Amino acid sequence: MKITQLEVFPVRPRWVFLKVHTDEGIVGLGEPSLEGYAHTVAQAVQEMGRFLIGQDPRRIEHLWQALYRGEFYRGGPVLLSAISGIEQALWDILGKWLGVPVWQLLGGPVRERVRVYAHIAGETPDDLARHAEQRLEEGYTAVKFSPVRRTWPIDTLAVVKGVRAKVAAVRRAIGDENDFMLDFHGRVSPPMAILLAEAVAEFHPLFVEEPCLPENVDALARIAQKVSVPIATGERLFTKWGFRQVLEKQAASVIQPDPCHAGGISECKKIAAMAEAYFVSVAPHNPLGPIATAACLHLDASIPNFLIQEVVSLGQGYLKEPFVVEKGFISLPPAPAWASNWTRRLSKGWSPSRTGNTFAGITPTARWPIGEGYLSTATSAIQSSCSPKAWSPPAASARKITPT
Ligand SMILES: [Mg+2]
Repeated sequence: MKITQLEVFPVRPRWVFLKVHTDEGIVGLGEPSLEGYAHTVAQAVQEMGRFLIGQDPRRIEHLWQALYRGEFYRGGPVLLSAISGIEQALWDILGKWLGVPVWQLLGGPVRERVRVYAHIAGETPDDLARHAEQRLEEGYTAVKFSPVRRTWPIDTLAVVKGVRAKVAAVRRAIGDENDFMLDFHGRVSPPMAILLAEAVAEFHPLFVEEPCLPENVDALARIAQKVSVPIATGERLFTKWGFRQVLEKQAASVIQPDPCHAGGISECKKIAAMAEAYFVSVAPHNPLGPIATAACLHLDASIPNFLIQEVVSLGQGYLKEPFVVEKGFISLPPAPAWASNWTRRLSKGWSPSRTGNTFAGITPTARWPIGEGYLSTATSAIQSSCSPKAWSPPAASARKITPT
């Protein structure tokens, strides 16, 4: 069998779907999505396609190694997201060729259903509580939210109390039998993260995600050692090498590799095996589309130290039979792979121009106040120090970035 063509489809809201065609007529699907950079990663996939055309798609490990190590530069979100989506499509091809689920090829299932969680949002404690109740009615038993917006490196007691009030409201709404998780999105400083985690510990979050940015593993480890709340991180880490220090320094109790970013299904399974040796759980990151969800479910089925799976898309509008959440779980997909259950939207009518709402929402990285209350506006301060020709502000639509 040989790969004959790669087709990429940036689609709303911020996803990229990939079709890998073969000379035997089997088509594999992958999701090389990279939030905010759909066209960039789509181009990377096409560049990798120059090597892949003519290759046997069943040599998954070999092709992964060739894509990762073949050129001088390696790693990073763009290249790894491209490799991840391609690798998912190769598994899809292999599953269809053999007629067995991918989870069977990954060593067989160690569970028959996968626990999942959904996001909730709201500005006030009441808003969050209402949304949490709604999620319980939809069948979820766990929800995640971000209780903190922009903060100073060390902020007021009022900010801490505000976060605590939101967390308390959600705990009241879901009761003690369900779970909630908090995502700080790396927005707060390490000392503030410690203060906030301690303030909400009595409400028993399942974990606090990205209490600070993951680049400084020592800072993360310091937080993890200071607080009783389990710490999670990993959505912005790539490959086994990216997770090595987090595990060695015991900087997290839960890691969150993303099968669309970290290197694909095999790489996430290897990362999970590394974590297993450190008694660390795995909660794969997945705020993406239905192919990503399917890939996650197959991975989750095969890893013993799995904790819980993030889901945003259950496939509505794309799958003939979207995934169903029942009492907090999704049953393992019975299909050979993840390419057989699609509506006609999958193959026709997509246009790269439909990327659409890639930039929306709030900032994903640490954004401490920049002069608000002291300068007329933060941007005017920047502009005054730059000549108009050397610097111009980005378009309004490009300044908002979706959280991940
Ligand atoms: Mg996150």
